[in-house]
Amino acid sequence: MKQDIIKYDENIYQIDVFMENKPGRMSCYYIDSTNPILIEVGPSNSFPYLISSLESLGINEVKRSAMTHLHLDHIGGIGHLVEKYKKHFVYIHELGLKHLPNPEKLWKAVSEVYTEEWLSTNWGEIKPTPLKNLHSLKDKELIDLGNGRKLEAIYGPGHAKHHFTFYDEYSKTLFMGDTLGLIYPHGNFVQPNLPPPDFNKEVLFKTLDELNTLDLKYLALAHFGIHNNPYELINNAKESIELWIDFVSKLPNLSIDEATDSLQTWLIGNYRILNIDEETINNYLNNGNFKMQIQGIRKYLNID
Ligand SMILES: [Zn+2]
Repeated sequence: MKQDIIKYDENIYQIDVFMENKPGRMSCYYIDSTNPILIEVGPSNSFPYLISSLESLGINEVKRSAMTHLHLDHIGGIGHLVEKYKKHFVYIHELGLKHLPNPEKLWKAVSEVYTEEWLSTNWGEIKPTPLKNLHSLKDKELIDLGNGRKLEAIYGPGHAKHHFTFYDEYSKTLFMGDTLGLIYPHGNFVQPNLPPPDFNKEVLFKTLDELNTLDLKYLALAHFGIHNNPYELINNAKESIELWIDFVSKLPNLSIDEATDSLQTWLIGNYRILNIDEETINNYLNNGNFKMQIQGIRKYLNID
């Protein structure tokens, strides 16, 4: 087993796929039950890391995967996966069936935010996924993991309108995608992730409140890793989101770049007050897209 894989209870593997060639940025998960499944594939450029990790576990064929949402850091490598395993079956929001067989429109839309050059260099180009490999998820759909174990797909908009989370009752693990936000090594606090065009506080809080009623032992985040204080983190996420919205609502006259700088400066101050060490602060700052947070919150507040 490679160093960047961690095995948790009940045969759950956390795999670091070295997004943007950096550790601690993007986790995929593999539930090695009787009827196994991969959760998230990561961006295209991470695909070789994912495959070599799976092969180091002795997994030479991945039959099924479940995708939390259609952002390219989560699904960029999906065409590669289906090209490698021809019969591979993907569970995804219905918008995936619309966009993934012909991903040009999706690519163009994302390029407008990140620029095409940035996307190609950092996440890599995407390949089409045939429709026959894609399955459209329904809210509360149960995916069979074998031996009576089930993975429940729970529709959870707020971060994105095409977002599902996946609940494994057997291990009491909730695979959250980006619904909660970001937790980077070695912090134990949530940094909001509220991108345009879909971020909506009321919708996101409704999702988080619903997830909060589940019997939980672990939260598995895409960015990054598994955490064993689920209820505390859900609370922490909600508090931080409220504070961020309040802060951004008071900057309406600043340009996007000025507002981005203000948010970052305010955040560094807050993190220092909380006595967070400088290395962790830098880790959170360098791996958050703050301009996008301003855009997402302003869109939600209608101050753009
Ligand atoms: Zn993400």
